[in-house]
Amino acid sequence: MNRNYTTAAVVLKTRRFGDFHKSVTILSPESGIIDAVAHGAYKGKSRISSITDPYCISEFELYHNPVKDVWKINGCESRVMNSRIRENLNALYNASFWSELILKSHALGADYKTVFLLYTEALSFLDENNTSGMIATVHFLYRFLLGSGFINDFSECGHCGAVIGGGAAIDNGRLYFSPVEGCFLCSSCASGGLPGISYSSAAYLEQSSPLHLAEAAKKRLDIHTEKEIRNMLLAVLRSIMDAPLNTLDYIDYGME
Ligand SMILES: [Zn+2]
Repeated sequence: MNRNYTTAAVVLKTRRFGDFHKSVTILSPESGIIDAVAHGAYKGKSRISSITDPYCISEFELYHNPVKDVWKINGCESRVMNSRIRENLNALYNASFWSELILKSHALGADYKTVFLLYTEALSFLDENNTSGMIATVHFLYRFLLGSGFINDFSECGHCGAVIGGGAAIDNGRLYFSPVEGCFLCSSCASGGLPGISYSSAAYLEQSSPLHLAEAAKKRLDIHTEKEIRNMLLAVLRSIMDAPLNTLDYIDYGME
């Protein structure tokens, strides 16, 4: 990679260091996660500071110092501010959960271009819709797990091979996730207490996945069903990730 490098990227998180400097962690569709420094970003009214806040999408001019192996932000042009996310706590908490998830899981090994598109689609949905972050997180999580290959489909029970999910002949069934075995189970094979969803919820997810996230999230389910789907997807996530996700404690802010 050249020492000078220009890329579109979305800001995942920022941190102040020293008196005036800003450490900016960005996700680039080509190069993945990069930590870069905006020197003097907090000095006076710096233009670069406002367009390097979390969830901003900008065109970054970066410089790589090969001796110190550090990235510096030399210039930045704003593309999308997503500023309404930072004004709505529920949106903010869901967006910060996605950021933490991408960072701590290293995008689960999925390609960065796919994750960049998913993340920016989900952010723009949050920015444009004054709605609960719950439905966006349902679709974000499902697509994130699908894109990284940790969920394929819900078509059969991992134990007995019975047809489950949207393709089953009965439509009032439920399927469950076993964190120990890392597979989905039919109701006969699942022991009590496992997180589960209805077949119609499974069909909802499968039918929505080819759609743009904003299109998919327009179709709301009732809040309990959305929460049930999200909790099962979180159980899948926990079964493959070692690191705890701190932002999970906050994503239900303002929901009850
Ligand atoms: Zn079974």
